[in-house]
Amino acid sequence: MAHEMPKFDHLEPKTKPLTELHLHAGAGLPTSTMWSIAHDQGIRLPFRNYWAFKEFITVTKDRMMNLDTFLHSDLNPFHWCEVIQSSPEAMERTVYEIAAKAYRSSNVQRIEIRFTPMKRNRGGERDLDHIIMGALHGLDRVMLEYPIKVGLIFCLEKKFSKTQNQITVEKAIKYHKRGVVGIDLAGLDAHNEFDANAMSEIFLAAKNAGLGITVHAGESAETLTVTEAITKLHATRIGHGIQAIHDKKELKLIRDRNVTLEFCPSSNMILGLAKGIPGIRRIVETFLKHEIKFTINTDDPIFFETNISKEIALLIDNNILTHAQVDQCMDWAQEASFIDY
Ligand SMILES: [Zn+2]
Repeated sequence: MAHEMPKFDHLEPKTKPLTELHLHAGAGLPTSTMWSIAHDQGIRLPFRNYWAFKEFITVTKDRMMNLDTFLHSDLNPFHWCEVIQSSPEAMERTVYEIAAKAYRSSNVQRIEIRFTPMKRNRGGERDLDHIIMGALHGLDRVMLEYPIKVGLIFCLEKKFSKTQNQITVEKAIKYHKRGVVGIDLAGLDAHNEFDANAMSEIFLAAKNAGLGITVHAGESAETLTVTEAITKLHATRIGHGIQAIHDKKELKLIRDRNVTLEFCPSSNMILGLAKGIPGIRRIVETFLKHEIKFTINTDDPIFFETNISKEIALLIDNNILTHAQVDQCMDWAQEASFIDY
């Protein structure tokens, strides 16, 4: 006689569904998965063992870095993450694992994952389309297995040539209907040569093709300003944007243009861009006072040993936001999401 399967239909996630808009694939995977992917591909890592690798990858408060060291030196953990993820198979696993983990750990049901395709092809040795298809396979697989919506954002880089950035936008447009939902501008501009005016038409082409536009701006005082990102690069979302708290005109522009900020509390604190909890409190208070829409994000969860639940807990436990205000941030994230499926 056939036995009936027990029903566990009453089991649901215990927390509300969450949305995350700002997460870099390079720092989104658990260290153990990165280690495993590296070995699958026979990559020789310059670390004696797993623990040395883990120590290097994690940018804890004890090993606080400034943004420049973080992005531009041999100590840059992004570099090794990019090397490890530079194959179609690695990108498939990366997108799959990041989204699956976000759902299981924090009940994230909508997530936008960003990466720089041009930093995943080993300087042109690998074909960009294969890398992108690998990432899209990961997206399809995870959406089949879990009730989560995933979109990819392609990063342009401030230090890339105009042609490199143009190619990235062409690829984003080509794969728009397949799961690429927007573009971003990331990285630092070591020689201060980035010309937002010259890049304006590239961003406009992306916008006209229906892609969402987010730009890393106003993270530190030296980076591209929020005003430039909005007026020259057509951004409707800003990565960080915390420098705007010092500029009333900029705050007004953000509000008038209905721009949403992607706020990343631990990232800002660990990289020294917000001075501890008082710094985070001041940023949030200013956003609220000026009616700025902002969302809560992890940026680089493995570097900063965080996830979206921990970011929310940080804000609640320090009485920076109430539960109702966190819900409001999640509503803003849903509204500002580039995912339309
Ligand atoms: Zn970022």
